[in-house]
Amino acid sequence: MEVVRIVPRGYCHGVVEAIRAARRVGAERQGEPIAMLGYLVHNEHVTTELAESGVRLVDATSRLEGLESIREGTVIFTAHGVSPAVRAQARARGLHTVDATCTDVIRTHDLVRRLADDGYTIVYVGKRGHPEPEGVLGEAPDRIHLVESVAEVDALHLPPGRLAVTTQTTLSLWDTRAIIARLQERFPAIEVHNEICNATQERQEAAVTAAASCDAVVVVGSARSSNTQRLVQVIQEHAARPAFLVDTASDLRPEWFAGCRRVGVTAGASTPTVITRQVITALEALEPEPALSPVAVTAGPGPSAPGTG
Ligand code: SF4
Repeated sequence: MEVVRIVPRGYCHGVVEAIRAARRVGAERQGEPIAMLGYLVHNEHVTTELAESGVRLVDATSRLEGLESIREGTVIFTAHGVSPAVRAQARARGLHTVDATCTDVIRTHDLVRRLADDGYTIVYVGKRGHPEPEGVLGEAPDRIHLVESVAEVDALHLPPGRLAVTTQTTLSLWDTRAIIARLQERFPAIEVHNEICNATQERQEAAVTAAASCDAVVVVGSARSSNTQRLVQVIQEHAARPAFLVDTASDLRPEWFAGCRRVGVTAGASTPTVITRQVITALEALEPEPALSPVAVTAGPGPSAPGTG
């Protein structure tokens, strides 16, 4: 079975910078309490490594709620960004803060603040419960409306005046286009600011293109990672190929590859390179069973709820 390494895949600049910042603070402030407010990146392997260097994970339903349990020391804001209310609360508690927000996410925060200051009503396309929208919505809670689907666009009631739409950085290119197109139908004057980041775009486009010449694709990453979940989704929906989500090589199932001659491998933006390498090695060693029955089109073994990362 031929294993096709899809490029680009894996770590993006935002994740690399965030991990570097967390490692630096772990080394500089040894022995002091250090907490990261939510998963620095949505990957268990990175989280475990940081915990071993003294960086404690505080995972709660929201960033503000998580902050409640941090009484002293240093708090690290993750690559997903935080709302102004979280920053203010951390200051009020006298915490030392380390901001690992990705520059692409900072750009969306700046955009939303500027639009709100200019009097716009803003529609934000994103996933409820994900930390990135939580932070961005906090920039202008009274002027911003979160939508996840075309159906939610149809149900929108917006006040008269200037309108703009912007997006979470890690969505599906295709879903976002459909939602924005519907917004433009309903509100022809709406200004469009598509903020899907380059890393997400490039990985999705490469995965869909490569999947077309493969029998199946393995996506390496955490089920908590939004951009990883979106890779599974776009391969299934836009290349019509089976896509299997695996966290590690041990999740691979030989029966998935029955009758496969070419299998692609890609990885989410927060997946450590070493894990992807192990998956590739394990795939290359696999002896797939002959095709006795059709290959199921399904996500892999990890929880495959809509992305939260
Ligand atoms: S996926 Fe995009 S927005 Fe998120 S950390 Fe990476 S580069 Fe930044």
